[in-house]
Amino acid sequence: MSVSRIELDGIGSPLALAQKIHELAPDLAPDFDLAELCSSLDIPSISQVQTSAYEAAIIMDELKAQGAILVAEGRRPERRRFSIAHELGHFLIETHRPRAGEPFACALADLHQTDTRAADRHRRIEAEANRFAAALLMPPAKVRRAMTAREPSLAEIVTLARKFAVSKEAMARGYVAASRADVAVLVLQHGRIKSIYRSGDFPWIEVPLGAPVPAASIAADHGLASGVHSEIEECEPETWLSHRECARVEAMTEQVLGQSNGYAMVLLHIERSER
Ligand SMILES: [Zn+2]
Repeated sequence: MSVSRIELDGIGSPLALAQKIHELAPDLAPDFDLAELCSSLDIPSISQVQTSAYEAAIIMDELKAQGAILVAEGRRPERRRFSIAHELGHFLIETHRPRAGEPFACALADLHQTDTRAADRHRRIEAEANRFAAALLMPPAKVRRAMTAREPSLAEIVTLARKFAVSKEAMARGYVAASRADVAVLVLQHGRIKSIYRSGDFPWIEVPLGAPVPAASIAADHGLASGVHSEIEECEPETWLSHRECARVEAMTEQVLGQSNGYAMVLLHIERSER
């Protein structure tokens, strides 16, 4: 692989680092060999360990001459892939410095941090490693090129997740980031909203995290089995958005995908009224 750390020297931002790697290796397949990339970037060893202490960790000296990645055993391959990319992020992002002798050990919650502007340093660097991992595994331009459906759909997110070897939730974020349409994906657990991912121009969703989905939504009582999705149906924008935002929405659709363990995913798509 034609990527070496010399060529990444001086690049500080997580996004710019991931972009540069794709620039240097433009022919990387969507499900490229991540271990091979790590190895060309001075991380020759990735091993699975039996532990409940962390989800993934990277061992490196203070100068970051070399690294070794450890991932908790027994995880699904797509989850392991994201964890490895996250640790590679800690290794490459200049400001993520290990304290003497301590590994960077990341918990499951760290792998879900998204606020790269958090005041808390720990949360911020975890979010930065996630941003790097997402941009490395799901480069927006490549994801956009791989989109073939006529309109945004959960079936397409599932197909892309498989193609890029990431989890459906990871791809939901990558999809929202890459899509040119106004879309949002909500992850539900037992009917309550666990996470919300919105594309740049998608309006604020009035339902707070942790709250149940609105009774008038299609997602309420969807009763779908794991892996089964509903049709894409028109819904009332008022169900999800404020009155003010609704005035600017021409039409809104909602689609639901049943998942295992009480999880479900909701895709919202709006068409704007002409201004
Ligand atoms: Zn981390």
